[in-house]
Amino acid sequence: MLYQTEGIVLSSAVLGEHDRVIALLTLQKGLVRAVVRGARKPSSRLAAVTQPFSRADFQLYGRGSSLDRVIQVSLLDSHPGIVSDYAKVVYANYLAEIVSGLMPEHERNSGVYHLFLAILDALQEARELWTVARWAELRLLRSAGFMPLLDSCLRCGKVPVGTAHFSAPAGGVLCEECHAGEADSADLIPLSPGSIKTLSLIASSQGRPNVVARGQVRDEAARVMREYVAHVLGKRPKSLSLVERLEDEGA
Ligand SMILES: [Zn+2]
Repeated sequence: MLYQTEGIVLSSAVLGEHDRVIALLTLQKGLVRAVVRGARKPSSRLAAVTQPFSRADFQLYGRGSSLDRVIQVSLLDSHPGIVSDYAKVVYANYLAEIVSGLMPEHERNSGVYHLFLAILDALQEARELWTVARWAELRLLRSAGFMPLLDSCLRCGKVPVGTAHFSAPAGGVLCEECHAGEADSADLIPLSPGSIKTLSLIASSQGRPNVVARGQVRDEAARVMREYVAHVLGKRPKSLSLVERLEDEGA
């Protein structure tokens, strides 16, 4: 069956000698994996317009079971502000991997589609990539029903005073008192009041957050989000080590 949809290329991988397979976030059918025939040949017209982060009108052919096939593409936006900037590409790959991991295939979700477009726009214009990354992680998690509980204790419901501890499996923080009563607390990540405030501020901002984090807050908040994202996805994102390297260098 032929179908038409707007979509964003999330990733692209080699398939055999001549082809590529792309992951697409589409407006009509959610996450779709599709073959681009001949995309590895230098003369391929489709290769250029199916690069990661391209937004385009796609004509696809699908039989419901195996991979769909890209028939025609009409490019709308290649996001040049991202693809020309190494750090932005690293973050965009990471956030695209989260979307691929969170979203079921062939299930329309226009909210997530528009959210991911807003994330790419924010990345394209961002100076504080760290803040945009945390905002995007939290937004994507919320849209998939995995919003972490940050500003009150999972056990007693009180607002933590002093250092709290984040549990990735439980998806939230424990206050100091409840943490002391915990038998097995090896996997808990300490989270200072400043880090909780920063993440809560980023989570609650309507548009793009205007927050700058430094030092300990920056390290703690990033670590909590990485651990939690990996827990929700059930695996460590492949693109995460490049994000970590950037953030260690202060990106
Ligand atoms: Zn508590």
